[in-house]
Amino acid sequence: MDSGKNNKSDLKKIKRLLQKPSKRIVIITHINPDGDAIGSSLGLLNILVNAGHITDVITPNDYPGFLQWLPGNNSVLVYSGNKEAALKKILEAEIIFSIDFNDLKRIKQFYKPVENSGAYKVMIDHHPDPEYFAECLINKEAAVCLFTGIMADTGCFSYNSSNKNTYLIIADLLDYKFSKNEIYYRLYDNFTANRMRLLGYALNEKMEILPDYNTAIISLNKKELEKYKFRTGDSESFVNYPLSIKNICFSAFFIEREDHIKVSFRSKGDFAVNEFSKKHFNGGGHLNAAGGESYTTMKETLEKFKKLLPAYKEKLKKYEI
Ligand code: 5GP
Repeated sequence: MDSGKNNKSDLKKIKRLLQKPSKRIVIITHINPDGDAIGSSLGLLNILVNAGHITDVITPNDYPGFLQWLPGNNSVLVYSGNKEAALKKILEAEIIFSIDFNDLKRIKQFYKPVENSGAYKVMIDHHPDPEYFAECLINKEAAVCLFTGIMADTGCFSYNSSNKNTYLIIADLLDYKFSKNEIYYRLYDNFTANRMRLLGYALNEKMEILPDYNTAIISLNKKELEKYKFRTGDSESFVNYPLSIKNICFSAFFIEREDHIKVSFRSKGDFAVNEFSKKHFNGGGHLNAAGGESYTTMKETLEKFKKLLPAYKEKLKKYEI
């Protein structure tokens, strides 16, 4: 893998690699892949397939049902359920694209096979510039996936993280004449009744407001998840809800997984949750949206979180409207 930032010579090299003959390519996403990870991976998959390459997407673990309709979804291998097949693909790959993350540790179990692979590795993390090698190869399927990824990651084009360029890209994608409505419905109006009831329970019974720190916390343990027949993706976006409360600028969501607590942070204004997460929960992400992990019990994790808040009081109180 070429280290450092991408530059024109890297992109030229990638373009050369993607010229004929057809290559065996694997695209990998980070653990717990979300809308932008799946949307951008499948966008790239459709482009590469369109260019004649044999391409698969491998995700470390399962992902939400509301993303499983995207064009190319049946070329996704979930590593946790298909280890042998996934390892074979990695072994045979000539090129591996890592999409939407910049630290190989985020692919967890198959970190080693990917690291050891002799494939040419390309890491694209939120600053893809596909025009250099894929401009003419976008088709409707790729456009739907890329549009979905951008829609999911920008809060339906509302966050400050999007900029003029985002809308110019969207404008180009709209040339492919797909139904925006349908994508919206599939992403946001596609939940089970159990998921809605779990959300109701989380907000009604589990949300804790800490006015001294303009902070809200929601936590869900395994027992609660079982009661609501939890499926991957059901808790997606729960962390966002408390931010619509006046003055709340920091929202933390804790969910019990098999062997750890998965943490999600969201903020408003300039409270940098990626730094907070990196420092205290072995995680990272963006200024206003980040995640991390805790390997202690839920009780200990929540206590740790609450103990950290006083040190951030000044920053958190700055945000009041
Ligand atoms: P979420 O809370 O929705 O899982 O993640 C929010 C953002 O933080 C996403 O961009 C996601 O990729 C990133 N993120 C989530 N968990 C981690 C983590 O453990 N490490 C790092 N570096 N980023 C994470």
